[in-house]
Amino acid sequence: MKQETKCIQAGYTPANGESRMIPIVQSTTFKYDTSEEMGKLFDLEKEGYFYTRLQNPTNDYVAKKIAALEGGTAAMLTASGQAASFYSVFNLAGCGDHVVASAAIYGGTYNLFNVTMRRMGIEFTFVDPDCSDEELEAAFKENTKCVFGETIANPALTVFDIERFAHAAHSHGVPLIVDNTFATPINCRPFEWGADIVTHSTTKYMDGHDMTVGGVIVDSGNFDWMAHKDKFPGLTEPDESYHGVTYAERFGQGGAYITKATSQLMRDLGSIQAPMNAYLLNAGLESLAVRMERHCANAQKVAEYLEAHEKVAWVNYPGLPSNKYYERAKKYMPNGTCGVISFGVKGGRPAAETFMSRLKVAMIATHVADAHTCVLHPASSTHRQMSDEELIAAGVGPDLVRLSVGIEHVDDILADLEQALAAI
Ligand SMILES: *Cc1c(COP(=O)(O)O)cnc(C)c1O
Repeated sequence: MKQETKCIQAGYTPANGESRMIPIVQSTTFKYDTSEEMGKLFDLEKEGYFYTRLQNPTNDYVAKKIAALEGGTAAMLTASGQAASFYSVFNLAGCGDHVVASAAIYGGTYNLFNVTMRRMGIEFTFVDPDCSDEELEAAFKENTKCVFGETIANPALTVFDIERFAHAAHSHGVPLIVDNTFATPINCRPFEWGADIVTHSTTKYMDGHDMTVGGVIVDSGNFDWMAHKDKFPGLTEPDESYHGVTYAERFGQGGAYITKATSQLMRDLGSIQAPMNAYLLNAGLESLAVRMERHCANAQKVAEYLEAHEKVAWVNYPGLPSNKYYERAKKYMPNGTCGVISFGVKGGRPAAETFMSRLKVAMIATHVADAHTCVLHPASSTHRQMSDEELIAAGVGPDLVRLSVGIEHVDDILADLEQALAAI
């Protein structure tokens, strides 16, 4: 099936007389006739449901759809994108381990890694995603367990060289994890370029309507854990907390990573997505392909308009031929990148604030990547915990305005920008 068809049909096929939409299984528990039957589920000997903190049918339909869209073997929904980022790394790295991460990642992910996960004893080395081969090579250590990057960084809009980082990760015997939130599997499928695990904040384009916070982790099934047995004992040696199961043996290359994340991390940390939210996410996913097309078409026109405007100092959009990442974006995302643009208004911070306060169609919101056009000044909001040096290293200057172009008629968006720029 093509991506457009998978958006509608993957993950759930109703049998004769069953509901056409996925059922919302709003139940914490599941009933069994005998204790023995339930015991088999606890031993992971049989597939099934017993408690929604571990698995729920509604969530699984949606996880399957996203796995199909990304071309992966298994997926797990999480309560938020943050939970997905955390689980994706913590499933591989623990106290005393090390991770290589691109410096151009979402501010929340940066804090998670650099502050909270450091406190858990995991060491991170952040590299400029455009660093030299020598610098990238030097970032790896004996105890490195994975590499993490973001397809299109929020909000720096740096395009990540997935193939290059996948190659570097594999040459050190570790997998590459890619946060594919902004590109979505409609515009980029990181597995086709060598990534091993993909994460999303489904809060953004996948939901697409400002309704639910959520996340997902997808496994490609391509990483051979057993070939790097010593590096990943959590997958290749018996889990004493789970009746001595060895995930990579019992569930194979395509199932080990997600089964461990579900039966161990989700069991213990409990960041499950509510079935009702999964249902809403599924409704959003049905129109993902058409929405992405419109987001990209609108954003392209808006970026071109801003670039030609005398009151605009600079525009950052990977779809502009003047952009540093234009060629790389063409390679990884030939049909378009995303609806998010960043730019600077001449006159710096005060001019940007005047401009923002005059907007009517574009709303000020701590959100991006949904149907509504919205606008944000990261240095005074989402990224305020970061120092100026850290901001610049992450590609987010103090004057940057982030504009998330929605799917309204582009003429209304352009007219709104025109009157707000005129007020400066
Ligand atoms: C928003 C976002 C996150 C965090 O997701 P939440 O759903 O807000 O927890 C992670 N990565 C990227 C790229 C994001 O845009």
